[in-house]
Amino acid sequence: MNEYTRHQEFYFHDGNVVIMAEKIAFRIHQGVLSRHSTIFQDMFSLPQPSTHDEGYQIDGLPVVHVSDTADEFAHVVAALYDGGLNLRKSSNYHQPLPFSVVSAYLRLGSKYHLDALREEAIDRLKLCFPTQLKDYDPNLFDATTPTQSLQLGWRPISISRSDFIEVIGLARSFDLRYLLPSAFHACVRMNASLVIDAVESSRISLADLKLIMVSKDFCHGIFLVYSNLLALKPTSENCADPVKCREAITRHERSAVFSSSTGSFGDCLEHIRDESHAVDGLCPACCSMRKQRLEQICTHLWKGLVSISGLDALH
Ligand SMILES: [Zn+2]
Repeated sequence: MNEYTRHQEFYFHDGNVVIMAEKIAFRIHQGVLSRHSTIFQDMFSLPQPSTHDEGYQIDGLPVVHVSDTADEFAHVVAALYDGGLNLRKSSNYHQPLPFSVVSAYLRLGSKYHLDALREEAIDRLKLCFPTQLKDYDPNLFDATTPTQSLQLGWRPISISRSDFIEVIGLARSFDLRYLLPSAFHACVRMNASLVIDAVESSRISLADLKLIMVSKDFCHGIFLVYSNLLALKPTSENCADPVKCREAITRHERSAVFSSSTGSFGDCLEHIRDESHAVDGLCPACCSMRKQRLEQICTHLWKGLVSISGLDALH
């Protein structure tokens, strides 16, 4: 056997099979794996290589090589042994799962038919990358946002900006295309070099890079439409104090744009949906007009993202 390292946590002295992921050995139990996965069940029912052959054993046990990364495999073993399969019933359910864990649950849950893990991953991804505009909360991605201010009241996935691109990869690999509109919107806010790196390392296709660029242009265009509307007609026809309201709305929208996290026009959905605070000094008629305008703009933006994602037929 070539060089390997025993996994620090999952190398049980009474395990009866060694799973090798990369060069990390997991000594675990055939019965536990078989109980949850028909794939492992079938694998272990096959005749095992002779344990007299030194090349196929560690500590006298059969060795199964898997193509998964050691980290991903460890996430799944942890779920099997530490209660992750029953997360829903756990008091920890409303804790965010790191994106790396969600990704491992989806990949390996699909591969090994661990349905509970696969469903857990899909449910959490759908909460963060929903199909309907009304459910979409860009603040879910902002680790600095207090959870109590979110629509959901909790954060299903702790995800960093660089992970957004992986969501597109997962959506393509596992036929979860309904994640794409919000995933494309999230990627619009990414640094271009991160997106290009993802293409160069084949994590997403060139076609998806193009769609991200199209989404970026589209978001930019929508933002300009909103800016033009604001310039042409900043106040309502029924405005109580046009001078004061014009000053208030201009100051508010400008500060909202320049304080956006990336300073990019791509943030427009995040910006124009930001209804968390009222605009100081705006009269009721202007407030109402602004709300209506933002709703129309957001609806238009979302339809565009749905179309770019090729999901028109579903809506
Ligand atoms: Zn007004």
